[in-house]
Amino acid sequence: MFKEDLLRGGVAFSPEALQLAAQFKNKAYFIFSFDLVPLSDMAQQEHWRAPEELWLEGGPWRFRPTIVSVRLQPASPYRVEVVDGKAVLQLEGETICEVRFPPVPEYYTRTLSNGKRVIEIAPTIEWGYLVYLTVFRICQYFGQQEECQFCDINENYRQQTKAGRPYTGVKSVEEILEALEIIAATDSVSHAYTITGGSITSNLKGQLEADFYAPYAAAIESKFPGRWISKMVAQALPLEQARKFKEAGVRIYHPNYEIWDERLFGIICPGKSRYVGRSEWHRRILDAAAIFGASHVIPNFVAGIEMSHPHGFATVEEAIRSTGEGLDFFMSHGVCPRFTTWCPEPLTTLGRATPQGAPLEYHVRLLETWRDTHAKYGLPVPPGYGDPGIGRAVFSVSSFMDVLNHTSNSAAASPVAATQGVNNR
Ligand code: SF4
Repeated sequence: MFKEDLLRGGVAFSPEALQLAAQFKNKAYFIFSFDLVPLSDMAQQEHWRAPEELWLEGGPWRFRPTIVSVRLQPASPYRVEVVDGKAVLQLEGETICEVRFPPVPEYYTRTLSNGKRVIEIAPTIEWGYLVYLTVFRICQYFGQQEECQFCDINENYRQQTKAGRPYTGVKSVEEILEALEIIAATDSVSHAYTITGGSITSNLKGQLEADFYAPYAAAIESKFPGRWISKMVAQALPLEQARKFKEAGVRIYHPNYEIWDERLFGIICPGKSRYVGRSEWHRRILDAAAIFGASHVIPNFVAGIEMSHPHGFATVEEAIRSTGEGLDFFMSHGVCPRFTTWCPEPLTTLGRATPQGAPLEYHVRLLETWRDTHAKYGLPVPPGYGDPGIGRAVFSVSSFMDVLNHTSNSAAASPVAATQGVNNR
């Protein structure tokens, strides 16, 4: 519950906590801003010094280790403070738990031959488990009529470059390979990589979406066969295009459907709705199971946007009923969606309309619904996220892995689970 509350509303840092955190692994802004305020409103320049994630542990309630992504909100009631030389998380002045910051991996100290830093080209999240390769930082769904209304990919690109952060718009295959070579030589914690970026609605460098993204996976798999679990976040593409990902060596496909409700999908995802359409999108998700296997098609949705103003559901009950219907639909076909807890980013339409996000009760009830539906269909633990369970999960932008029972049908389904326990953190 604390993890979800931090994700939906953000966290603040005292000056002392920021000073301490600056010595650790900083927020890389791996795709979106995932902040509750724009960079220009950060009086302490938090965006340069805040850690990528927090490790919550101990304290009066004896938390087991819990990894949570840092979403900055200087006005949050949650605040990281330094007490007796140690970082703690406080809620309105009351200490909740101890906090650890992620260590700086060796590869973050390195640069490529072109002078770019590994943190820019191949940052890692989930306490080092996942290499996050945003190879195209722009989305061709552009402007109010097309962009998903919760997404700040284009606005974030603008604000980061304006703030002076080196932020490559299109990463080359060569620089990705060079960065991965450094990681492969110096690291044993990363177990998966994700290739992603904005949607390509026409073409990029003369290529369609699959033809643009697939060569990255092909090059990585050719140079480092099987070194990491390969994942691709892209649109729900027609079968013959999705097959190109499989042929390139991608093991897990994420054709994100964002929101289940039909009316809200049209309003909140106008580009996807117009170019592909909701039912076609869903059909392609199920079709992809024939290529990747149902357990390896894992579409994401953004948990909470169905309660955004002015078009969303007014009550938690309606929102859960709708989203639960979508979970039941996909899981009954063996496809297990996962979700990112909605961060109402201020440079988005939905973030401006509903800066407080969805209520905590919604997020807690969603976790129950997701877990229960997953159990109802006897599905395996989603592969590519490390070990499940409280005190073990590393997935940091929602708690779906935390709520799974690690003794359930997990280890057999996820070979990574055996190697990614709490002991090697
Ligand atoms: S398709 Fe939607 S969610 Fe994905 S990058 Fe584009 S605007 Fe953002």
